[in-house]
Amino acid sequence: MLRTIDLRGRLAAGTRLDYATVVPRAVFDVAAAVEVVRPICDDVATRGAIALAEYSERFDHVVPPSFRVPAAALAAALDGLDPDVRAAFEESTRRRRLVSEAELGERAVDVQVAPGAQVTQRMIPVRRVGLYVPGGLAPLASSVIMNVVPAQVAGVQSIAVASPPQREFGGLPHPSILALCHLLGVEEVYAVGGAQAVAMFGYGVPGLCPRVDLVTGPGNIYVVAAKRLLKGRVGIDSEAGTTEIAVLADSSADPVHVAADLVSQAEHDPMAAAVLVTDAPDLAAAVERELQEQVDVTKHADRVRTALGGQQSAVILVDDVEQGLEVVDAYAAEHLEIQTRDAAAVAARVRNAGAIFVGPWSPVSLGDYSAGSTHVLPTAGCACHSSGLNVKSFLKAVHVVSYTEDALAAVARHVEVFADAENLPAHGAAVSRRFPRGAGTVR
Ligand code: NAD
Repeated sequence: MLRTIDLRGRLAAGTRLDYATVVPRAVFDVAAAVEVVRPICDDVATRGAIALAEYSERFDHVVPPSFRVPAAALAAALDGLDPDVRAAFEESTRRRRLVSEAELGERAVDVQVAPGAQVTQRMIPVRRVGLYVPGGLAPLASSVIMNVVPAQVAGVQSIAVASPPQREFGGLPHPSILALCHLLGVEEVYAVGGAQAVAMFGYGVPGLCPRVDLVTGPGNIYVVAAKRLLKGRVGIDSEAGTTEIAVLADSSADPVHVAADLVSQAEHDPMAAAVLVTDAPDLAAAVERELQEQVDVTKHADRVRTALGGQQSAVILVDDVEQGLEVVDAYAAEHLEIQTRDAAAVAARVRNAGAIFVGPWSPVSLGDYSAGSTHVLPTAGCACHSSGLNVKSFLKAVHVVSYTEDALAAVARHVEVFADAENLPAHGAAVSRRFPRGAGTVR
């Protein structure tokens, strides 16, 4: 089911491999999807709600009676929520909030760099955010928690949520998504999906949705492409796109667990990536047998088969865990499981991954819902430079500079010399003119 990339013996032969060129990647990538969503975003910018209606019809096969979800529908969804589901939502929220509060850190950092020379770093929440909650192939209510909780803990004043309209629910987003929004106190909810939702947030739609300062949340390749396209006009979190799982495993791993975890993430999207990196060919064979069995009985078998059989998924055979570590760093998976002996020590050496799941009892699906960690994570290699969604994603660090006259005088000469070295003498003059009697010298 998974294709094999065999890297064994390549290092022994003295070959220097750039692993980034051999790890599996999707053929249709975000850059290609940007060209698909560009006209959609332009259209929403110029034609607003009329364009939203056309794209809802085309992609979601329903036009919501109102793009803004009525307050009564939010309340009704929570009233109708199954008590067991509500308990799961509440526990997930409690855990994510616990971790979010710890992420917050200091609100302000003061540093006296010299007498009278103060630099303060203030962490200021973004004023208004647009949070995307996927709802194409599955209604990801968990993404409400993953978006809203850190935004609230950061102190964001204005929170809007968008999720695709569902035909079977009369054009509203899925009721579990509405129920969670109401449970968490979010009342501004839109029945808008995909690139058009990102454009609605980024440009604003007159009479419907004021533009936001930051768009966050996961989504399929079109959602991510729209975020990339609008970045700069609006802030974005990471490119949290089509799901990926990589498992670094040795012969101590249980093939039943490994296969189940690969299937669990392949279930998200036919374009999802599942990658097993192992130095144990016997384990790879056992996982392959398990996959055959587990895929046959899983609910979304077609989607999973397509994902596992795609160019983006593979078994990568390596000489040892050392080489495996180099491969997983080059791949920079959204989710990385370490299923090896001494898993904690191996995990501690990983540099690039959106989130790391250590040992046999920390599967990725735990992190999807109830671990307390975020599930909004960078994909397609972006984990080498980006972080998962967390409280700091909603905070801006602003440096506040406050010097006394004496403190400026004490450093004035350095500023003037620096300015001359950059051939920007007016910079130096802005200091020296403050000291017309020549006080601008180092004291
Ligand atoms: P979605 O809400 O992300 O996307 C649905 C929307 O996609 C539709 O409303 C439509 O507007 C748009 N769309 C569909 N086909 C299109 C096309 N051909 N052209 C333009 N737009 C199109 O829901 P989904 O499709 O179920 O995807 C959810 C995604 O989120 C999955 O790929 C999953 O792997 C991913 N995910 C990522 C993370 C992460 O943090 N990286 C977390 C959870 C889920």
